[in-house]
Amino acid sequence: MTAPRFWLAALAAGVVLFPQAKLLAAPDTAADVATPHYGTWGYDPTGEDTKVSPGADFFDYANGAWYARTQIPADRVRFGNFDRLNVLSENRVRLIMEQAAAGQSTDPDAQRIGAAYRAFMDEALVNKLDAAPLGPDLAAIRAEQSKEDVARQMGQAAYGMQSAIFSLGIDADAKDPNRYTVYMDARGLGLPDRDYYLKPDFAQKKADYQAYVTKLLGAIGWADPAASAAAVVDFEGKLADAEWPRADRRNPDKTYNPTTVEGLATYAPGFDFRTFLSSAGLGSRQTVVLVSNTAFPKYGQIFQAAPLETLKAWQAFHLVDNAAPMLSDRFVQARFAFRNHDLAGQPELQPRWKRGVAFVDGAVGEAVGRLYVARYFTPEAKAKIDDLVNNLKLALHDRIEHATWMSPETKAKAELKLSKFTVKIGYPVKWIDYSTLVMKPDDLYGDAVRATAFEWNREVKRIDEPVDKLEWGMTPQTVNAYYNPSANEIVFPAAILQPPFFDPDADPAVNYGGIGAVIGHEMTHGFDDQGRKYDGDGRLDNWWTDEDAKLFEAQAARLGAQYSAFEPQPGAHIKGDLTMGENIADLGGLLTALDAYHASLHGKPAPVIDGLTGDQRFFLGYAQIWREKIRDDYARQLIVADPHSPSKYRVIGTVRNVDAWYVAFAIKPTDPMYVAPDQRVRIW
Ligand SMILES: [Zn+2]
Repeated sequence: MTAPRFWLAALAAGVVLFPQAKLLAAPDTAADVATPHYGTWGYDPTGEDTKVSPGADFFDYANGAWYARTQIPADRVRFGNFDRLNVLSENRVRLIMEQAAAGQSTDPDAQRIGAAYRAFMDEALVNKLDAAPLGPDLAAIRAEQSKEDVARQMGQAAYGMQSAIFSLGIDADAKDPNRYTVYMDARGLGLPDRDYYLKPDFAQKKADYQAYVTKLLGAIGWADPAASAAAVVDFEGKLADAEWPRADRRNPDKTYNPTTVEGLATYAPGFDFRTFLSSAGLGSRQTVVLVSNTAFPKYGQIFQAAPLETLKAWQAFHLVDNAAPMLSDRFVQARFAFRNHDLAGQPELQPRWKRGVAFVDGAVGEAVGRLYVARYFTPEAKAKIDDLVNNLKLALHDRIEHATWMSPETKAKAELKLSKFTVKIGYPVKWIDYSTLVMKPDDLYGDAVRATAFEWNREVKRIDEPVDKLEWGMTPQTVNAYYNPSANEIVFPAAILQPPFFDPDADPAVNYGGIGAVIGHEMTHGFDDQGRKYDGDGRLDNWWTDEDAKLFEAQAARLGAQYSAFEPQPGAHIKGDLTMGENIADLGGLLTALDAYHASLHGKPAPVIDGLTGDQRFFLGYAQIWREKIRDDYARQLIVADPHSPSKYRVIGTVRNVDAWYVAFAIKPTDPMYVAPDQRVRIW
C-alpha cells in the first residue's frame, strides 16, 4: 500500500513522547534539550540487578533494576535508552519549530517549518473544518465509473493522501546502481502484517480493524458503512493470502524482477498498470522492477474479481485513515483508539505538540535537520567518530582475514568491498532544496499533500540522471543508523552520536560497546545474508565461490535456529528468517567492536574501574544501549513485522556466542545462557 511516506516514517514508528510533559510548557532550554549522561564513566550501574547471575540472563543482570523501576509513559508504546534520545531530539526540534513559528527567522526553510507547525497547532481551525479537507479527494473516488478509473486514482497516491494496492518507489537499480529504476510491489493491507489476517491468534485484532473501518466510513457518510467495511476487510484478506511473507521479501535475488510495462500487463492481467503508472507521473517508463513478482498476477485477479463499490470503499477508508491525524478531533481519536490503543497497547494519545513535531519533521525533515545540526552538532564530534569508524574498519578487515571457513579468493573480494565502503557521519553535505514547496499556516491537509507531492516530484524529476550518491535516507535528528547496499555506504545521523552510544568523556570500553557495536553492526550488514550479495560498487552480483556461499548459509542457519528457539511471549517465537540479517549484524558488530577496543589498548592491559575489567565494561556498555521496556501488544506486532529481534534478545542472543564474554563474567557450563564452544556461531 502506498501511504504518504513522510508520515509513516515519522509517526507510525516514532510515537515519540515524554513523561509528565505538560501541554502548556514550552521546552525548558536547560533541562529538556541537554545531552544525557550515564554514571561517572558513561555507564549507569544503578540499572543492574546483581541478584541475577550474568550467565542466567545477562540482560536482566545488566538492566534488571532499571527495568523494575521504569514505567512506560502513558503516551508511549515503549521506553528505553533509544527513546530517551528520541525524546531529546523531539524537544530540540520542538524548540526549533516554535521559534520558527514565532517568525523569528528570515531563513525561508525556517518560515516553511514555522508555517507547517502553526498549521498543525491550529486545532480550532482543524476542528472547524472537520472532514471538509477530504472533499476533493473523496469526490474523485465517488466519481469513479470503472476499474480503470480506480487504477488512475490509485496512481494519484504518489501525490497525496490516497492509497494504492501497488507501491511505487524510485531507487538505484540493484544491477546497475548508478542509474535509477522504478520498483513496484504488491502491498494493499491496512493491518501491520499478513499474519493479522491469516493467523487465528490475531482474530480479535482483525475484528477491531473491521470496526475501525466501519467507524471511519461512517464518519464520512459512506453508504452502508458496516457492509462496506466487511467487504473491505474480506478484500484485504485475499490480498494478504497472495502477499509474500516478509522474510521472502528480504532475498535480493528473488526480489529483483525487471519487466517491461507491456510484459507486466500480460503477466498480471486484471489491473490497468499503464493507466496507474501514467497517473503517477511515470507514463514514459518502459520497464519496472517487480519485488514480490508472483503476487502480482494474484493481486490482478483479486482486483478484477472485486466489485467496483468494494474498491471505492477501500480507497475511501485508506484516504481517511491516512489523513486522520490532520483532521478534526473525532478522526484523531478514532485513529488513536485503533492504531495506537488496540494494536499497540498505548493508553493515551500524545499531546498535540508532539504530533505536530512528528508531522513537520516528516514533511520537511532535512530543512529541520539543517537547523538542528547548526545548533546541536560540532565538527569535533564528526572527527572523533571518523577515527572510531576507521578503527572498526581495520578490525573487520582482520576478522575477514582470519575467518577460518572462507577461501582466500572470496576473502580478497570481501576485503575489496570493505575498502570501498562510503561513510557518512552527522548530516548530508548537500541538503534538499525545498524552495518550490509552499507550506501554509491555515491549510494543514494541503501542507501534507504538498509535502508528499514535493517529494515524489523531486524523485521523478531526477529519474534519468545518475544516482545522487550524496543523498541521505535519514534526517540528522533521527536516532538511528543504516547500511545502504546499492551504495555500499554506512550512515550515522548526528542524533545517534550521543550518550549512551557515544560520549567523548566516557571510558573507551563503553564507547566501543555502544557506538562501536552500532558502527560494526552497519558494516556487517554489508556482509549479512542480504548485503553479501552486493559487491563493493553496490551491484547485485555474486562474488562468492559456491563452497564459501554454502558455508556462509550453513552458519547463518545455525544462528537462525538459535533465535527461532527464543519465545519472547507465550506462543510467539522470534522469526529466525525474518531477523536473520539483523542478528548477523548484531553478532558481527559486537565481535568487531570488541576487537577494535582491544586494538585501541595498544598492548597495554585495560584499566580496572570500579572493580570492573575493560571487557566487563564493554559488555555492560553494550547491554546498556538496549535497556528498553515495551507494551505487550506492540511487542507482539514487532515480533511479526520487525526484522530486528526484541532488545533483550539483541543482548542475550549475541553475547552467548562470544568467547570473551564467557571469560569476562566467568560463565559456567551449568549457566542457562551457556552455549558449548563448538555450538557458538561467529560468521564474521
Ligand atoms: Zn541493522
